[in-house]
Amino acid sequence: MSGTIKAQTCPYCHQEVEDYEANWEFESEEEVECDNCHKTYVSKPQYIFDGWLIEKQCEQCGEWTDDGMVLCDCEDED
Ligand SMILES: [Zn+2]
Ligand SMILES: [Zn+2]
Repeated sequence: MSGTIKAQTCPYCHQEVEDYEANWEFESEEEVECDNCHKTYVSKPQYIFDGWLIEKQCEQCGEWTDDGMVLCDCEDED
């Protein structure tokens, strides 16, 4: 990946935006205004696909567990 940065940062004055104030709307190119220099720019979050998390439901107790991490006690029983 190139061109992405960890925090939403103003391209004019390089003021970083706190995560809770950042633009998370990745389907729209929303213009945001910098609190510091009051210029507008467009920021879009870029997500890196990290793979799938698979969960299965225990047939005995109905508990959802992901593979390798058993959250219920049923499967320990012989
Ligand atoms: Zn700025
Ligand atoms: Zn179970």
